[in-house]
Amino acid sequence: MRESEAVRALRATLGDRLITAEQDGFDAARRVWNADVMTHPALIARCVDAAEVSTVVRIARDAGLPLSVRSGGHDWAGRALRDGGLVIDLTGMRAVTVDAGARTATVQGGALSADLTATAAPHGLVAATGVVGGVGLAGLATGGGYGPLIGRFGLAADNLLGAEVVLADGRPVLAGPDADADLWWALRGGGGNFGVVTSLRFRLHALPSILAGILMFPAAEGPAVLTGYADIVATSPDELTVMTGFLPGPDGPLAFLCPFWCGDDEAAGERLIARMRGLGHPIVDRVQPMPYAAAVRMFDAATVEGNHYLLRSRWLAAVSPLAAEALTDAAHRVTSPFSALVVNHFHGAAAKADPAGSAFAHRVPHHPIEIIAAWSPGEPVDRHRAWADSVAEALDPVALPGGYPNLLGPDDDRRARDSFGANLSRLLDLKRRYDPDGVFSAIPALVNRTA
Ligand SMILES: Cc1cc2nc3c(=O)[nH]c(=O)nc-3n(C[C@H](O)[C@H](O)[C@H](O)COP(=O)(O)OP(=O)(O)OC[C@H]3O[C@@H](n4cnc5c(N)ncnc54)[C@H](O)[C@@H]3O)c2cc1C
Repeated sequence: MRESEAVRALRATLGDRLITAEQDGFDAARRVWNADVMTHPALIARCVDAAEVSTVVRIARDAGLPLSVRSGGHDWAGRALRDGGLVIDLTGMRAVTVDAGARTATVQGGALSADLTATAAPHGLVAATGVVGGVGLAGLATGGGYGPLIGRFGLAADNLLGAEVVLADGRPVLAGPDADADLWWALRGGGGNFGVVTSLRFRLHALPSILAGILMFPAAEGPAVLTGYADIVATSPDELTVMTGFLPGPDGPLAFLCPFWCGDDEAAGERLIARMRGLGHPIVDRVQPMPYAAAVRMFDAATVEGNHYLLRSRWLAAVSPLAAEALTDAAHRVTSPFSALVVNHFHGAAAKADPAGSAFAHRVPHHPIEIIAAWSPGEPVDRHRAWADSVAEALDPVALPGGYPNLLGPDDDRRARDSFGANLSRLLDLKRRYDPDGVFSAIPALVNRTA
């Protein structure tokens, strides 16, 4: 099939939900979270159900069009788009249905984290999501998905109960503990490499509120805050998850601690947070009980619409004094008022899961680091990239092999493979079985190895 025939067939299926590059509104339709993404697909197919996704996959295959899948559009490297390709755009598939009795939720493949938290909240239920509401659940959960509840309830992937997937040949299939166990294993950690996930079912948890918020300290107190963080989380219960690092302040970066206590004993949480306050002289102190849905809105304002981003990521076994020093030094050398350094906390339930039980292999307590360079449109990238690279290099002597696949970049092939550890060979076998032609390319390392 030629491309023009494919466009006719797609138009017959989707009507005006097919958007071509020549059309008005195409630029807005291809926009993703990171305005630095310049990838220009040829066609955007806004599907509304799995049957349409299946038809679109078949047409794209027949026409030899490169395919990509978009849900929340929050991958910093813009892997929801491919140059000259056809985007299966799931932004019109955001429905969420909660079964409060069974404590489960079924979401369509384009649902955002905020869609799920908002729908579960009136039932007093929560889902294990990340910290930003705009992140797509499919991208988050298939890649792993750490967040404020990780210590008590595990990764978003660990809370999946089943999924519906359209495979590379257009066949819709179910994946779950009782249906296609191999695909089920690969989907939880292997990212969007095996098909288009059109629906996901998540376990929910009863949690009326969470003790959460932010403490901010002068940057000079960074080393004390970071090493104090390391001491506190080394011995604290699974119910405490803390983010730390440096965030933009009005006059330069500020050290921060963002605690999330999801235990039943609020007084125990308060005691731990009092210890955190004592690590320095907080200039912002906003920690209080709040609904989970409010806790995961805390960072929404941090994204400046239209900003450009570049991420580097490392996994640390511990936030050692050397790492604390490297991060503090990086904060002092920051090249933009928007850039940030975030230390995440992987522990508890997520670290106790069987490393061979899903594709997500790195199941020991560790700290995923985000080095986030952010700058205004029009500025050249070079000095911001140089800053992010220099921070990553400074951390290399204490970094683990691999890195969180959802945050690795297109050039991090080696790290992506290392991150799957002993699971890599099974994952590559399954990639060859489910997607022999490398149609889906969410984690390039998996595709390159099959080529
Ligand atoms: C501001 C921000 C905050 C973040 N916070 C967290 C966090 O707290 N915890 C965490 O673990 N991660 C976090 N991330 C990383 C995030 O999990 C990944 O970037 C994730 O891939 C985004 O998913 P998405 O659906 O929004 O992205 P998209 O860009 O739409 O997709 C990302 C990748 O997944 C594929 N994909 C998307 N949907 C589907 C689908 N339905 N079927 C098959 N493949 C699909 C895409 O093709 C692409 O390769 C954050 C990222 C940002 C930018």
